[in-house]
Amino acid sequence: MEIAKTIEEVKHHVLLWKKNGLKIGFVPTMGYLHEGHLSLVREARKRTDRVVVSIFVNPTQFGPNEDYQVYPRDFERDQSLLSKEGVDLIFYPSVEVMYPEGYKTYVEVKDLQDRLCGRSRPGHFRGVCTVVLKLFNIVQPEEAFFGWKDAQQVIILQKMVEDLNLPVKIVPLPLIRDNDGLALSSRNSYLNPEERKAALVLSRSLDLAAELIKSGEKRAEVIKNRMLELIQQEPWARVDYVEIVDLKTLEPLEQVQDNTLIALAVYIGRTRLIDNLRIISGGLEK
Ligand code: AMP
Repeated sequence: MEIAKTIEEVKHHVLLWKKNGLKIGFVPTMGYLHEGHLSLVREARKRTDRVVVSIFVNPTQFGPNEDYQVYPRDFERDQSLLSKEGVDLIFYPSVEVMYPEGYKTYVEVKDLQDRLCGRSRPGHFRGVCTVVLKLFNIVQPEEAFFGWKDAQQVIILQKMVEDLNLPVKIVPLPLIRDNDGLALSSRNSYLNPEERKAALVLSRSLDLAAELIKSGEKRAEVIKNRMLELIQQEPWARVDYVEIVDLKTLEPLEQVQDNTLIALAVYIGRTRLIDNLRIISGGLEK
């Protein structure tokens, strides 16, 4: 496994692989890896000839009062996990490599970027799209792997790829959870034991939504209110949003139907967590 810290080093490998007709799979991450990230790596390993993982805590996707400085980092541990998964190349650039002095260009996906998480994190998806487009240009993957954990991110990146005619296929993969249902996240490391228990309220509220839908309830307002009631019973929780939207446009729906996203963001203490469930081809995916 190679580790590249510069764009030139990555391009050197990419050029050789392309010359040999090898298919490149790419998994962008911010590091502090868990089974969610590794599930993407494993799928990339299965589907492509060479697997590149980037580890970069991207400053442009964090707001001024967010956790950029304290975001968990452990490169040595990440490196050892990725080496066990048979990754070919880790791209581990510095901020200066990605955003040299005088950097000026940003990518926006209008409207979609302002909904759900975009409302409480202005500029977040502009940062995500910018860094992902730069990474795509550097790594030149045929396929790029993303988790449904960040559903809005998947939808926005698919739109960016479509609108900008990028020669890459976005492959969205299932949300991986802990045994008790909590969606795996690097940010779970912020939670103390009491908060960790309280954090289950996100996944429980989605279970409630799923039960209601299975019993025939379709009204978004009713489902949303039942979820809010449940979350508000948890003293450590403060709701940022609970939304039921179209899976493509992210526009609010009155009725749950095929291609629906039920997404929520909740503060547990000072930690903001997200979770979601999708209804795709008539099936519930959580
Ligand atoms: P991050 O390091 O948080 O930027 O995440 C990197 C990639 O891993 C993104 O595509 C995430 O959606 C994905 N990911 C993070 N957590 C999970 C999870 N629990 N299950 C599946 N994918 C995940």
